[in-house]
Amino acid sequence: MNEQFLQYIWKFRLLNPDLYTADGEELAILHPGIQNTDGGPDFFNARVRINQTVWAGNVELHTRSSDWIRHRHQFDPAYDNVILHVVYDNDQVIRKKQNMDMATLEVKNNFPASIEDRYREIMQNHLWIPCYNLLDGIAPAVMRLWAPALAAERLEAKSGFILSLLDEYSDWDEVLYILLASGFGFRINALPFELLARSVPLRIVRRNAGNPFRLEALFYGQSGLLAGYPRDKYLRSLQYEYGHQRAKSGLKPLKPGLWKRLRLHPSNFPDIRISQFVQCLVKCKAEPGFLLQNQDALMLEEFFRLRATDYWNTHYRFGKKAGRSEKKIGPEMARLLLINVLAPFLFSYGSARDISPMKMRAVELLECLEGENNHETRIWNSLGIRAGNALESQALIQLKRNYCDHRRCLECRIGLKILDKHNRP
Ligand code: SF4
Repeated sequence: MNEQFLQYIWKFRLLNPDLYTADGEELAILHPGIQNTDGGPDFFNARVRINQTVWAGNVELHTRSSDWIRHRHQFDPAYDNVILHVVYDNDQVIRKKQNMDMATLEVKNNFPASIEDRYREIMQNHLWIPCYNLLDGIAPAVMRLWAPALAAERLEAKSGFILSLLDEYSDWDEVLYILLASGFGFRINALPFELLARSVPLRIVRRNAGNPFRLEALFYGQSGLLAGYPRDKYLRSLQYEYGHQRAKSGLKPLKPGLWKRLRLHPSNFPDIRISQFVQCLVKCKAEPGFLLQNQDALMLEEFFRLRATDYWNTHYRFGKKAGRSEKKIGPEMARLLLINVLAPFLFSYGSARDISPMKMRAVELLECLEGENNHETRIWNSLGIRAGNALESQALIQLKRNYCDHRRCLECRIGLKILDKHNRP
């Protein structure tokens, strides 16, 4: 038994109808109160009747009554208005300041054992998600209603990082530029890409936006990838140009060991993604804000269908020849950039400037895009929960990573349904 489960039992009034306090007085719960997630008692403004007297005030819950002493609530005025102490195990009599016994309800043996059994079953499960084999058709209907709130939670969580970048740079364009770079890293190389963009300030990119070759030289040089490969003509010319630019701007390159290729499809190698990122900067004339100007999802998706330069049609890495294939960003990758970069950026911008339509645009953008097809969404699909669009796939990712993986089943609408279903006759 943990306090969270106790709160669930109390909040949803899952206790037996005939209740008595530890002193043997009749107890009726008129209202369990409003749950408090900050400091102070667990529930505010509850109403209970003890014998014939109605009490209104706060309720505190503990696994053991002695926790009251252990948490030193007897010295904290915030607990003076506690009208009922709800405990699983009443192991110690607690006295209020006036030396009166605290009205205490012992929950043990006062609620259906089947609820606790089901809760334990979920908590002890080590499958992909704890309720893996208990979903039983519940989840799709719940998810349809819950998805927008979950997706907004995910956007909110991503805002934290975006706003910390804004604190650092005080410039929305620079923030979007760094985010775009990290988006081109597609998770595995997100951090090296972020560091790469940080190492080439946007003002230098702008200065060279009209010269794609020079921009490539700058980014490849800064990435550290120009060194240590067999030389060919293209590589030599990049090295020459970078040497010149580096001396002019005083740039310091990254270590090439930062980049990861293991288990990546060659078309996702950073060597190719850097070229596509440069094309993105050239296409928007180094003005990332251009992407936010009245463009619909289709136009934005099309914008990101970028081609790496011709050299990469016959290479996956510098100096290593490969069969001919055009290195163009596919529709799925283009959508990922919208989902992981543009939507969170719009949402953060709207939040920071209190522009609700901007936040709505982020949500609408996700609604317009096809849902992600990744390992997580495929398993959800096999469990009968299909993401119809990117808003729903983002919701499923949020659910798995922030609820299921932390066993927050009592805060999860699916979890509550599972327990509720079991509780019904
Ligand atoms: S958090 Fe919800 S969906 Fe995830 S395992 Fe728990 S009950 Fe299931």
